[in-house]
Amino acid sequence: MLDRVFVLAFLALVVHPDARAQDVRIGVLGLFHPRELTLQASRQEAVIIHAAGQALVLGPGSSTTAFFHISDDMLVLDIGGLELRAAEIHATSRNGGAVSFHLGVPGKIVRGYRGTLVVKSSRGEVVPIITMDIETAVASSVEAESAPGTPLEALKAQAVVARSYFVAGGGRHRDFDFCDLTHCQFLREPPAQTSSAAIATRETRGIVLTFLGKPFAPMFSRSCGGRTRTPADVGLPGSAYPYFSVLCDFCHKSPYRWSRKLSLTEAAPLFGQGESGRLVVDRSLGWNAVPSNSFTSREENGEVVLEGAGQGHGIGLCQRGAKALAEEGSSLREILDHYFPNTALTQLAQSGVDPMASFQAAQKYMFAK
Ligand SMILES: [Zn+2]
Ligand SMILES: [Zn+2]
Repeated sequence: MLDRVFVLAFLALVVHPDARAQDVRIGVLGLFHPRELTLQASRQEAVIIHAAGQALVLGPGSSTTAFFHISDDMLVLDIGGLELRAAEIHATSRNGGAVSFHLGVPGKIVRGYRGTLVVKSSRGEVVPIITMDIETAVASSVEAESAPGTPLEALKAQAVVARSYFVAGGGRHRDFDFCDLTHCQFLREPPAQTSSAAIATRETRGIVLTFLGKPFAPMFSRSCGGRTRTPADVGLPGSAYPYFSVLCDFCHKSPYRWSRKLSLTEAAPLFGQGESGRLVVDRSLGWNAVPSNSFTSREENGEVVLEGAGQGHGIGLCQRGAKALAEEGSSLREILDHYFPNTALTQLAQSGVDPMASFQAAQKYMFAK
């Protein structure tokens, strides 16, 4: 028995050569289309701004704010009365590495981040891009994408999904790898180290979902309506992983139901265009105008009445179903096996990580059932 366990555990430690732990470049605050941006140091450490051949220091807890804006298509930095113009401006710690800082869009939002910062100008907007450790990005995404009160095993499943997406997704933006919206993965500030999202991230550190030995970018949605869909079901192109339509017990027994009324013109893109038609309507009327692509429709008094179930495209992991499975005692492994049949969990090769620790982590997940 022991021998068999050892062999299986050894097989579980598939370290894919192309799947290395990495940093990710995330374009942030794009939702606000900022024409101005503020940068402040955190209380803990200095931020060094590298601009036009100069290095400027924002001391720890300093009240000095660096202002960025665009003038004649050039990026302009305004700091303590000094004005510098550059195509790109960088901010790092004293040793050139990741640093904590606050970015703000005046009158709209201030968020804390950790990483190295590049500020560019593009089409009249200030574009902040943060290169952050993948685990910081995963924790930030789990925090932003999960409903309050979600049990740890479901958060761990979300962390593996988020990490896999950061490893295998990307390529949808010109200046960075991922945006911070649901277009890629929703992401705000990194959560506190003691938060459930941070714990779920640490407990799955470096673990991704693979199909035929390769990581893929898994899809997820808030609630599936009773059965998950495949990309083909909703008129989307296929992907590296062939999704399966699986029964989602919790949503099947008590689906999230919704109804909407739209004008004939508003509803027109919904018919014959599947998920992309729904997104067209959501983009023009608001993100929740048509919550899912699982609905019936009828015409009533010159309007289109939609009655549907679920939220989102319904492909891959169903967050509502995963939460219910975790509440009933399912493990991370069981949740992911259910929504992503025929996949495996793989430990990313990580520089600086003890191979024995990776081995033990993989072993733990192999036998988590
Ligand atoms: Zn995006
Ligand atoms: Zn579901």
